[in-house]
Amino acid sequence: MRFCTSCVTPDTRPDLRFDDEGVCDACRSYQKKHGQHADSVDWNAKGKEFEALIASRRPSDPLKYDCVIPVSGGKDSHLTLYYATQVYDLNPLCVCFEPTLPTEIGRANLANISKLGVDVLHFKRDPITYEKMIIEGFKRVGDMEWANHMGIWSIPVHVAINFDIPLILWGESPQMEYGGAETVSEMNRRVFNEDWLNDYGCLNGLRPQDLVSENTGITLRDVKMYVYPSKEAVAQWGGMGVFMGYYVKWNTEENLDIIEKMGFRRRRGRIEVSYTDHEKLDCLSMNLHDYLKYLKYGYGRATDSASIQVRNGTISREEAVRLVDRYDGSYPKECVEVFCEHFGMPRAEFDQICDGFTNKALFVRDGGELVRDVDGSLVLKERIRDARRNPVADWVLEPVS
Ligand SMILES: [Zn+2]
Repeated sequence: MRFCTSCVTPDTRPDLRFDDEGVCDACRSYQKKHGQHADSVDWNAKGKEFEALIASRRPSDPLKYDCVIPVSGGKDSHLTLYYATQVYDLNPLCVCFEPTLPTEIGRANLANISKLGVDVLHFKRDPITYEKMIIEGFKRVGDMEWANHMGIWSIPVHVAINFDIPLILWGESPQMEYGGAETVSEMNRRVFNEDWLNDYGCLNGLRPQDLVSENTGITLRDVKMYVYPSKEAVAQWGGMGVFMGYYVKWNTEENLDIIEKMGFRRRRGRIEVSYTDHEKLDCLSMNLHDYLKYLKYGYGRATDSASIQVRNGTISREEAVRLVDRYDGSYPKECVEVFCEHFGMPRAEFDQICDGFTNKALFVRDGGELVRDVDGSLVLKERIRDARRNPVADWVLEPVS
């Protein structure tokens, strides 16, 4: 495993590349976004591009919505709404697909969206099918948030097609925020569509249709809203989805005061899988998704947060290393217990499924068995911690063992 020489992101992150100086794509795209690179983004031109886009798509009929904005109530929903309504005077229909295990602060932030003077359509899903999908996603691809991602990505598109709304505004492409931007084509950074979804939507190659069987008791009828609309339906609609983060200088840390003025609230105390209080607040299960990411790739939410802060210049790389050492990968006991209780799954079964998706080469073992501290946490190998502390640019590929 190697680490970026600038931030603390490792090369196990899917779609991430490093250049000759050992700097990752995400750091380079940050420099381009913030005028620190020879090839920096011209935000004036991007703003004009966005104005032209909405001018060409805005319905002349005042009885129609201008755009769909998928919302969860999180920081990105607030920031997208800020740009859409306060900067560009758009009239959106917000679409909410509720989190798996909503938190109190998440519900409050979602309720705040409605106070901003916009219509919000809440998709009240069939919980029986949804919960089966959650368990299948966890067992098949090691991601209990797979079904949620499927809903978040597909349902706003169904709504846009059915209400004949020509534009969907997504927040920032996760590729831009967390890395991978250089490997994504210009088109994919701007446009959200089925191809983007398959490549970067965290679906792990699993489709809702794949769950249909007598064994699961899931029928095609049950998953219709999770199946992305057909190419024919999309072509007939003629609309498009775009990432707002392509057109405006998206920086949640810098923009926290804007969204707090809108009524967005941080939580009291940090989230269980990291040290921050302003992201991933709305769902406990999302924290488990981040924990599984740690088991698969050796890095978790604290790495993401610390890397963003290093790029923003609010912490040093040394501090980032300390934060990641302290917070990444500790066993998220509260989230696990809530999940197990909600889904009626014994903790031993939960851990066993996690073990099946754990990259055992990354963790200390004793006689083949993963070593687990008394709090349930696995032990990341010292050589990996060392590689994080002392990243090198001229890396010679050698397998982790
Ligand atoms: Zn980096």
